[in-house]
Amino acid sequence: MPVNNKDEELDQLRQYIENSAVASQLKSSATQLVFGSGNTDADVVFIGEAPGKQEDITGEPFVGASGKFLNEMLASIGVQRSDVYITNIVKYRPPDNRDPTKPEKQAFWPHLLSQIAIIRPKIVVTLGRHPGEAFLPELIISKHHGQPTQIKVELGGREETITVLPLYHPAAALYNGKLRQTLLDDFQSIPKILADN
Ligand code: URA
Repeated sequence: MPVNNKDEELDQLRQYIENSAVASQLKSSATQLVFGSGNTDADVVFIGEAPGKQEDITGEPFVGASGKFLNEMLASIGVQRSDVYITNIVKYRPPDNRDPTKPEKQAFWPHLLSQIAIIRPKIVVTLGRHPGEAFLPELIISKHHGQPTQIKVELGGREETITVLPLYHPAAALYNGKLRQTLLDDFQSIPKILADN
């Protein structure tokens, strides 16, 4: 399969992170880097919090229970997982599935922006509070979920405007029927936001 420039650039970024001291403490307890996967020409990039046990084993984001629900929500809007790109703000599994810390999120932030600068999606969908607050520091997830917001970020050395859609994390909805429906409803807005961008 021919390798396009984006694939090459993402591969270089992956290698850079793997060979550098980014979050070195997390790296030492994790099995591997979970860099991200999917369509590098995607219109939508989904950003979760951090890999869990299954993701740490397989090296793929969202392959456990949350990933199953994410696949279902994608299917509900006629989108296959292979159409989108999926990654996490923190790319090594935190021990015992603890929340990622602020320094860990900060360590990965410039690399997440580089990833977005390479893919150039139309919208960035954040899943949960951690990636949501990274883009929208004032985020109150119960109030702002499902509201697309334009923000300015530095991408590839230039200030650019991107559209961020903050959503609940699929794990929060796994055992809460009301949140599950909220997340499914918020997903329904994605095709319209895409059409508008
Ligand atoms: N939860 C996340 O936030 N990311 C994953 O990759 C898996 C579960």
